[in-house]
Order: sequence, then structure tokens, then C-alpha cells
Amino acid sequence: MLILKHIISFSTGLSSALTVERVINRYGKSAVEIVFMDTKIEDGDNYRFMDDCRRRWNMPITTLAEGRTPYQVFADQSIIANQKIAPCTFRLKIEPFVAYLETISDPVTIHIGYDFSEIHRCEATTKNYNARGWDVDYPLLWKPIEYRKYADVVRYDWCIEPPRMYALGYTHANCGGVCVKQGQGDWLRTLINYPERYAEIENWETAMRDHPVRKNYAIVRDQSGGNVSPLPLTELRERYEASLGIDLCELDTESACVSCGVGDLSHPHLTKIALDRASRPDRPRRFAASQFNMPGIFANPPGK
Ligand code: SF4
Repeated sequence: MLILKHIISFSTGLSSALTVERVINRYGKSAVEIVFMDTKIEDGDNYRFMDDCRRRWNMPITTLAEGRTPYQVFADQSIIANQKIAPCTFRLKIEPFVAYLETISDPVTIHIGYDFSEIHRCEATTKNYNARGWDVDYPLLWKPIEYRKYADVVRYDWCIEPPRMYALGYTHANCGGVCVKQGQGDWLRTLINYPERYAEIENWETAMRDHPVRKNYAIVRDQSGGNVSPLPLTELRERYEASLGIDLCELDTESACVSCGVGDLSHPHLTKIALDRASRPDRPRRFAASQFNMPGIFANPPGK
């Protein structure tokens, strides 16, 4: 007998946690599977939050890990990733998730945690999943819509403390505060709260820029004055140290939102990378991850 499975990708953030809760409440635990794609550099408190949620739901969480950290992916592809080019989403989240889905023979509905601010993303996501034979649904758009802050729901209704990155002011809770898509404000939060992480990525970026092909690239962009230019982490840190009056929230308004998850199934750039890789499977890697001591980049999540 075929059984319809309801699968949720749990990022260890608040939106996906509320998504899981809603799907369990509607379909029951026996029809639900929770999947977590581990990038190996989530903040230690995200893993604590995941454990607390696991206890609340009293269900297992399937963990999929490609094995590399995002920065190992970038080193292997010889690139300095940024808001526009971030193959980590595809390599570490979408690819393992899709590979896992393909092992399931039962009909599947995938539940994505888009809320009302992301309705514009639903059409493309639905189309891309449907093209592969999977249904998609968006539980945060089910009525009644939850209008309270998700952190309040989790803290007061569930009695679980949200991942600490939210309380530290981050605009997201991804990849331990070193996400390549985050803006200057979040990078400075990492400089303030986790200076050792900032220093590690700053050193990585400096080493990567010491190459004629990559010298004009950086993780962060400076868009002041209407011009867009690379802003190396060293320069961002020096600017901050020279002027402690920088308003991080103001910097956030100039930054794009961090969006990273399994919803972007067919991002054109990511698809191109997949095709390139497939057509050149034996292409030698110009950089080995170990050249940058990459296993040290949160190989063991802080706080674990
Ligand atoms: S959160 Fe950022 S660094 Fe982490 S996988 Fe996604 S895009 Fe890459």
C-alpha cells in the first residue's frame, strides 16, 4: 500500500520549526518525516534548539550531511562565494535533499517554510518540484496565519528558547554567522560576538584573494554611494575598528535577505554549476581544502 509522506526540511531556524509543528498537527507523526541538512558550521545553539524540538515532537530527525562545510565547497571550486554566487546551497542542501527524496518510492509532499513575505517564491518552487513529480505545500500560509513573532511562539507556547543568533540581532540563524550571503551588519555581529570565527574566515578570504584571478572578489559588497564594489573582511573590520559608531541595523537595510534552503531547486546558476561539473567530472581541483586548514572551520560546531 502506498503511503503519502509529508517531508519537511528543518533548517534549525524558527520558520522551519513552526512548519514542522503545523505539519505534525495536521497529518500526525506517522505520516511525517523531518530532514535536516547539516552544513557542519551551524551555531552550537542551533543544535541545542534542534534537540529541544526533537524532544517536543518526540520524533527522530533524519540528518543528511554532504560532508564538507560551505568554505570547503568554495575552496574546492576555487571561488570566493558571495550573495550572487553561493554553490553551498546547492551542494550541501538541495543536492543531498533531492538525492534523499529520490530514494523514496511512496508519494511525497514537501513542505516549505515560506511565510506571507515570501509568497512570491511559491510559484517557481511549486513548478520546480512538480516537474520532478513531487507535490509542495506551504504550511505557514495555512489559516490561521501566525502573526505573532515566531520567537515568541517558540519561547512562550513551546517553552523552548530560540537559537541565540536571533537574540544577538542576526537577520537569520544560518551557518554560525559566517554565511556568505549575509550583509555587513551580520558580519560585524560575528566580529563582535564570535571574533575567532570572523578571524578564521578573514584569513581564508585573504589567502583566496592572493591570486590574480580572485584578487578583485570578496564575500561582502559595499554599495555605498550607489556603487557596488568588493569589501574584504579585513577592510570591513578596520572600518569598524576606526569608527565604533557604525549602526548595524542601518547596514541591514542595505543588505539582501539571506535565503538558503531547498526551495531554490532550480536556481539558474546552481543548475549551471551542476551541468558544468557533470560534463567535467575529472577536472582537477586547483585547491585542496586542506591547503586552508579547512577542517578547522567549525568542523566541531562551537558549543557542542
Ligand atoms: S546559509 Fe549561507 S553559507 Fe550556509 S549554506 Fe546557505 S548560503 Fe551557504
